[in-house]
Amino acid sequence: MLRRAFALLLMLAVTPALAVGVHAHPQKRGDQPNIILIFSDDAGYNDFGFQGSKEMKTPHLDALAKRGVRFTQGYVTDPTCGPSRAGLMTGRYQQKFGYQEINVPGYMSPNSKFLGDDMGLPLDQRTIADRLKERGYKTAVYGKWHLGNADRFHPTFRGFDEFYGFRGGARSFFPLGPNNRPQHHDNRMERGFGQFEEPDKYVTDALGDEAADFITRHKDEPFFIFLSFNAPHTPMEATEEDLAQFPNLKGKRKIYAAMTLAMDRATGNVLDTLKTHGLEDNTIVVFTNDNGGPTDKNGSVNWPLAGTKSNHLEGGLRVPFVISWPAKLSKGATFDRPVSTMDLLPSFFAAAGGDASSLKNVDGKVLWPFISGEKSGDPHDALFWRKDVRASMREGDWKLIRFADRPAELYNVANDIGEQNNLADKYPDRVRSMFKQIHGWELSQERPLWTLAQRFEEYDTDRMDKYRVPNKDAVEWNWTPDQAQ
Ligand code: CA
Repeated sequence: MLRRAFALLLMLAVTPALAVGVHAHPQKRGDQPNIILIFSDDAGYNDFGFQGSKEMKTPHLDALAKRGVRFTQGYVTDPTCGPSRAGLMTGRYQQKFGYQEINVPGYMSPNSKFLGDDMGLPLDQRTIADRLKERGYKTAVYGKWHLGNADRFHPTFRGFDEFYGFRGGARSFFPLGPNNRPQHHDNRMERGFGQFEEPDKYVTDALGDEAADFITRHKDEPFFIFLSFNAPHTPMEATEEDLAQFPNLKGKRKIYAAMTLAMDRATGNVLDTLKTHGLEDNTIVVFTNDNGGPTDKNGSVNWPLAGTKSNHLEGGLRVPFVISWPAKLSKGATFDRPVSTMDLLPSFFAAAGGDASSLKNVDGKVLWPFISGEKSGDPHDALFWRKDVRASMREGDWKLIRFADRPAELYNVANDIGEQNNLADKYPDRVRSMFKQIHGWELSQERPLWTLAQRFEEYDTDRMDKYRVPNKDAVEWNWTPDQAQ
């Protein structure tokens, strides 16, 4: 349960006088914290030092976890990139605005309402950046967008003052030369709107440099940075120097480790820049990941969780999740009740001095009073996920998974984190109750704007079955660049 060690904390706007009292060094700019959201792409649950990995080298992220709160049950809203980002950015279940399934051109049913570049975050949805701009923040996103390729979905029209990154879902980690054009226009690096500009270095390092530069330029005003790494998503590409740091690893696991090392180095660049400007104390830094590791594609390891990216086992949905805010939160603490990336929008809005209860159409919860122990219990009565007919739900320690092609499964994830002991036959009343609640939640949804082609739906389920048992070791396979895409 909650660690009550946080007694001091989290006064926010409610008790400003007390809040000033706990600042050893009052902020020059008032109490509005800076906010940096660092997001990895397709990382394995286990693949950080602070998550227990002995193979990865992540000293900067480990230090971040040590001075913050680590969430042991952090969830995304979908086990794939695009929908997960749609839930994160809006603070609500993306199904409520029809953003279901994945949104990668080529995977969708031809019967979908929107396809290709027209699959994007609907323009009537407000993003974290929109909400924080309203609170006076300067905003930037660096890296992967994946919320629509068409111009109208561009991040600079969705609340972000600055953008350096690419619109699509994946791209090379190396600068692209004139003879090596990307396959899709959405995979070119773009500065602001429409100015295409390849970096002069490994992309992960370039993104760290951009974020660090933004901090320096905006150090005297509140800012929000969404540092959206494409690492360690495929294609598996690392520098020779980083690969050399892992002489004992081989194959794709070695490349994965080198890509993760680069991401940690870029994170260190950002955190060091905060420190240089004396901003470390009153900056919220979040690190999390957009979906579970595709262990069969990038060499990630989700141990002790079963399953992979794109399925509803914990290995698809549960992610590393850290929030550091030295001015307000206890250091080195853990919070072990379920939270969601949807919670970040209202939590950030409240930290920025906004009244989160005024937010319309938000499913996320303000986490601060739960972290401090001011509120007890779970932030959410229940959490839901859905992809086509497949759906799942958490209620307390219980998890139900509904399938299209077999009976539902029920697990108690508190004592069966690897989801190996199906209790559906033992607790039929609970199964019925959770089924009914999933159905009730579905009634709140919009009709999907696009749907996954049937063959990929089958692929997801087959993949779940194949990686049904938690695995401590990376899966090795004969990797080719074509397969990786
Ligand atoms: Ca992803």
